[in-house]
Amino acid sequence: MTENQQAKMLELNRLLKQYAKEYYEQDQPSVTDAEYDHLYQELVALEAAHPELKLKDSITQEVGGRVLSGFEKVKHETAMLSLGNAFNYQDLVAFEERIKKLVSGPITYNCELKIDGLAISLKYQDGKFVQGATRGDGKIGENITENLKQVKDIPQILPEPLTLEVRGECFMPKSSFVELNEEREAQGENIFANPRNAAAGSLRQLDTRVVAKRNLSSFIYAVATPEALALTSQSSGLAKMNELGFHINPEGIVCESIEEVWNYIQTYQEKRHDLPYEIDGIVIKVNEFALQEEIGYTVKAPKWAIAYKFPAEEAQTKLLDIEWTV
Ligand code: NAD
Repeated sequence: MTENQQAKMLELNRLLKQYAKEYYEQDQPSVTDAEYDHLYQELVALEAAHPELKLKDSITQEVGGRVLSGFEKVKHETAMLSLGNAFNYQDLVAFEERIKKLVSGPITYNCELKIDGLAISLKYQDGKFVQGATRGDGKIGENITENLKQVKDIPQILPEPLTLEVRGECFMPKSSFVELNEEREAQGENIFANPRNAAAGSLRQLDTRVVAKRNLSSFIYAVATPEALALTSQSSGLAKMNELGFHINPEGIVCESIEEVWNYIQTYQEKRHDLPYEIDGIVIKVNEFALQEEIGYTVKAPKWAIAYKFPAEEAQTKLLDIEWTV
């Protein structure tokens, strides 16, 4: 029995690593996100049931992604992590229960749209944009400064001479994605499967002129150095980023209970198709930084945040018929 379980874990780990390589390094996934998430949860469940069989190189202990050749490496001062996942209301209740074991007193949650793009880090020195990087494996990313300078809503100069690092998502708006694919089709080139792949492929172009034509956009959702601005909460951090000229998603709200969070999720599950950019879920973050620090991190993700993933849609599966491209 145990041998069977171990063989299953080995096989799941091998498959998931293959899919992660296709997704993060080649921008050419061969399975849908829902299929990937399903296999991943299967491995998580097996590891929870048989902790003694957990593989040393389990994918559940790694942040996905590698640094591609062609780009200089950048060491992140603080790791760029992944997020734990929730798929239903019960998962959110369990998230809150875990938190309440670690901290006492009232908790508020900042709810944000989960933008389906590529995580980026932006560094500013005395108010000047000096370095942009991908997440990579979480510790080391790719230096894509010149490419990020082509993203029009990323400020090159801040209104204050601040030295700070912010993080966010770079994405391709739906309309740019449709236009780009129409153009590529007309020129007999392979089309991109979805806006995320198009954004990831574009940011890894070695020619900045190509990136400039791709019409990428960004939403900033974190200050990696909150002490630089004496910030105390996620919501006040976003307000400050907005003042500094970063593009902040306007749909976020602060919720006082998991019921309120759930209502917000329901609203955006309906509204997601009306948005001009793709989202694949909702990110729920404990709002107060002091509480976040108390709650802490696993090797892979903050314990004070969770990503609720929208259920798979049929249209997503059909994308597998399209030829994938970089
Ligand atoms: P994730 O996508 O579940 O969550 C972490 C990421 O969310 C962050 O790195 C950030 O880029 C993004 N994000 C967007 N909006 C955010 C916000 N408002 N606040 C904070 N973060 C925000 O984790 P991951 O490790 O990047 O990717 C795992 C997911 O990728 C899987 O669950 C799966 O859906 C997909 N995946 C798919 C395949 C495949 O073959 N189809 C393979 C690997 C991974």
